[in-house]
Formats: sequence, structure tokens, C-alpha cells
Amino acid sequence: MYIKDNIEAVKQRMQQALEKAGRSPQDVRLIAVSKTKPIEDIRTAAACGMTDFGENYVQEIEGKYPLMPEGCRIHMIGHLQTNKVRKVIDKVCMIHSVDSLHLAEAISKEAVKRDLSMDILLEVNIGDEPSKFGFAPSELISKALAISGLPGINIKGLMTSAPITEDPETNRPYFRHMKELLIELRSRLSEAGIPEDKLPTELSMGMTGDYIPAIEEGATMIRVGTAIFGPRNYK
Ligand SMILES: *Cc1c(COP(=O)(O)O)cnc(C)c1O
Repeated sequence: MYIKDNIEAVKQRMQQALEKAGRSPQDVRLIAVSKTKPIEDIRTAAACGMTDFGENYVQEIEGKYPLMPEGCRIHMIGHLQTNKVRKVIDKVCMIHSVDSLHLAEAISKEAVKRDLSMDILLEVNIGDEPSKFGFAPSELISKALAISGLPGINIKGLMTSAPITEDPETNRPYFRHMKELLIELRSRLSEAGIPEDKLPTELSMGMTGDYIPAIEEGATMIRVGTAIFGPRNYK
């Protein structure tokens, strides 16, 4: 039962980080990243109380969605092409990886067509890595203001994947920067007339290698794969 033990271990480390930061357990949601893993692993994790699962690939979401255990949700955390929006929009509870105005427009259009409202996060390329998707911090506010005017979508917050690192501490400044960006975004959206209860609050950041500093710096959702399900085999 390695998955059960792994979940216990992650929860324990989360708890320690929360205590250290003076935050309460309900401030952070653990998302189990199940990409490439079989539905049996999701069932095992669900039996241990997990309800939120992260997936990256549209085809995998289409396959797993009808088999998801009762009460479980899928979060889309991978890069999404605009022409695939219609395939996932009714299967996921949130799209974490909105990385262009173009994609936001496609989600908005599809949401309006289906008379639904989609929760999204804006992905930020916080480490300014050429290989990664996401808005540059310098363009985030202007893009967010444009996106906030689109119908059928709610900007719930920001998401990032910090650089891969051996030492999680090296990512702490990036997580701190994300928190600052969220605060700035809230104030700019507020100035633009968005009511207080509609302002973004979520910070999706922290993975297996760096979720401790992410929690300490204000993450509200952490996305943990390897530490729960073990290493992935992409073949
Ligand atoms: C795969 C993935 C994760 C989980 O990564 P681990 O290092 O296995 O915890 C989190 N977020 C995103 C966007 C991912 O693609």
C-alpha cells in the first residue's frame, strides 16, 4: 500500500509546513497528480480520502473521466491547445494552465456556448524559462485585465511550475514573487471594478520537489505526483 503511505507522509509534511507558517490545514488543498498513472491508482488514492486529481493530457482525461470515483474531480494542469478546449471543458473543475489570451478566449467562447462558467488560473512563467509556458510576470496584469472581461470564465488565481531544482529553497523567491503578483493582480482588478468576492485568491504552486517552501510562501493548492504515485513512465 505504498500510495496510502505516501499520502500520509505528504500530509504530515504539509501539516508541518502549515504550522511553521501559521496557516490552517484548510488553507491548502492537495491535488494528486495522476498523469500517466492507471485509474486503479486513482481509486486507491480516492479510498484514502483524495478528491482532487491533476491531469495534463486531453486524451488521458477523456479516458479517465467516465471512470472517476464518486466525488472526485479532475484539474487540468497541462498545456491546452485551443482546438481541444471543447474536449475537456465539461470534464474538469478548473483549468490551471491558461497561458495566453487566445486560449482564454477559446475557453470563454466554449463556456458561453454551453451556458457554463469555467474556473481558470493564469499560468505564470515565474522563472522566465524559455522551455515553459505561461505569462511573463511583466505582461500578467495587462493580460489578466483583458481576460477578466471575457464572459463564461472566472479568474480564480495564479499557477506556476517553478524551475526543477535539487534544493527546494532555491524556489522560495519565485513563490514569494507569485504571492506578490497575486496581491498586485487583486488590487488592479479591484480598481477595474471587480467586486471583492470575485477577486482571485488561489495560488497553485509547489510540486514533489518544492511544495514545502510553496506552502510556507502562500500556496493554496499544491500539485503532487511523484511523492504520491511514484516515478512516472512516459512510454
Ligand atoms: C507533472 C506535474 C506536476 C507533478 O509533478 P511531481 O514532481 O511529480 O510532483 C505538477 N504540476 C504540473 C504542471 C505537472 O505537469
